[in-house]
Amino acid sequence: MTGKLPSIVIVGRPNVGKSTLFNRLTGTRRSIVTNEPGITRDRIYGTANWEGRAFEVVDTGGIVPEEKAGIPGEILRQARVAIESAARVVQVVDGRAGILPLDIDLAQLLRKAGKPPVLAVNKVDSAKQTEMAAQFYELGDDVFPVSAEHGFGVDMLLDALTDNFPRGEAPEAPPETHIAIIGRPNVGKSTLLNRLVGAERSIVSPEPGTTRDAVDTVVEREGKSYRFLDTAGIRRKGKTNLMAEKLSVMMARRHLERADVAVLVADASMGVTSHDATIAGYAEQSGRSVIVVMNKWDLATDAAREKSEREKKVAVEGSGFDAAKLLAQYEPMVRQKLKFLSYAPVVFLSATTGDRVERLYALIDRVAVARKRRISTGELNRWLASVDLERGTSPASREVKIFYMTQATTAPPTFVLFTNQTKPLHFSYQRFLENRLRAAFDFTGTPIRFTMRLKKRSQRSHVQKRSDRRGK
Ligand code: GDP
Repeated sequence: MTGKLPSIVIVGRPNVGKSTLFNRLTGTRRSIVTNEPGITRDRIYGTANWEGRAFEVVDTGGIVPEEKAGIPGEILRQARVAIESAARVVQVVDGRAGILPLDIDLAQLLRKAGKPPVLAVNKVDSAKQTEMAAQFYELGDDVFPVSAEHGFGVDMLLDALTDNFPRGEAPEAPPETHIAIIGRPNVGKSTLLNRLVGAERSIVSPEPGTTRDAVDTVVEREGKSYRFLDTAGIRRKGKTNLMAEKLSVMMARRHLERADVAVLVADASMGVTSHDATIAGYAEQSGRSVIVVMNKWDLATDAAREKSEREKKVAVEGSGFDAAKLLAQYEPMVRQKLKFLSYAPVVFLSATTGDRVERLYALIDRVAVARKRRISTGELNRWLASVDLERGTSPASREVKIFYMTQATTAPPTFVLFTNQTKPLHFSYQRFLENRLRAAFDFTGTPIRFTMRLKKRSQRSHVQKRSDRRGK
């Protein structure tokens, strides 16, 4: 994940407090690493700094998948991981339980592998217990009584561990894009998620403050991070159709709260249904950037091809099947049903064949950037001066004068119009303005908001002058 940082690898038999120590060392909650969707592996990463030295912390064997209680197997695997990658190995033992045969086996294995462990004697909360730690010298020369839970002794442990590490800060984590995959049941959300996560390196991390099974999947790709929200929730299915439908709406609303980008999935073989439109409505209200995915495009093209072949048999001069033409006919239908999402790009793809799925990443980047785009006041007013505002005004809105504008916030981009009245802009005038703005700046996928501010008559000439000056 972080390239060449030295790594401290935490090993130990189950329940000695490895993950508590991991949290203590990294200051973060553990994340579960996975390379294949649905399969969590047993290595957990984090980065940390101590006294100006950056390093990676790896918690091994926190989770034993399939092979329940396969302790010897687990020890071997831990040892292997340690041999491969560790700069230092910390073996965590339980100070209250004393030395157990498994502790001895593990320490021996590590020594044989040329990585004598630093022993963290955990669950030592008092001076009296510190004495008990002495027995662990049997396992190695470096023994540190600690309380991972309370932090006791951790400073000394870290001093010893990082002693030889080079000085330098950990590289900053790239900003993450939060993505909610939403849509009604069976449109292919889980299949699409599997495709997107597929070959990428990914991490499953618990969602803070929620139930244990709510986990996000973070994909790192070309130096960027994508957090797919509550991926366990995306895979969860309702037992009945009705339940599944209700669940999908509930999930959509919940996922949208944390999202930057909503990927709204619909089934192209069925077209946009009213339930799709309901969920799309929530996406629109949420102010998140939206990408509409028409999935199962393979089915839609197959059906169209069959139909055209059938027709060809009847009419000898029937038109041949044309995939591009189908797309050109299909998109307006989608737009028609989702009028209120006119800013959202529509992608036709197939999650099962993988056709065009890769493109989604570039599009996610684009809409995420657009959402955070900030246009300087000078640039905005230069643009405003270039717009033929008269063209957008109807007789009803003619008396509205826009003197000046600024961008108040991003995510979504929100513009303040300084006008001669606070009455909301006429719908068609606002749309005109929005279209012009979108033509000049890339706001793909993100909604745009306008608010009105009254400029007092006395301020107007001043404002006018300022905007003139900026316009030059
Ligand atoms: P979810 O409920 O939205 O998560 O939907 P699933 O991912 O479980 O998919 C529902 C069904 O549609 C499954 O049988 C998938 O195999 C199928 N499916 C998903 N995507 C595609 C696709 O692009 N093409 C085809 N032909 N089938 C798909």
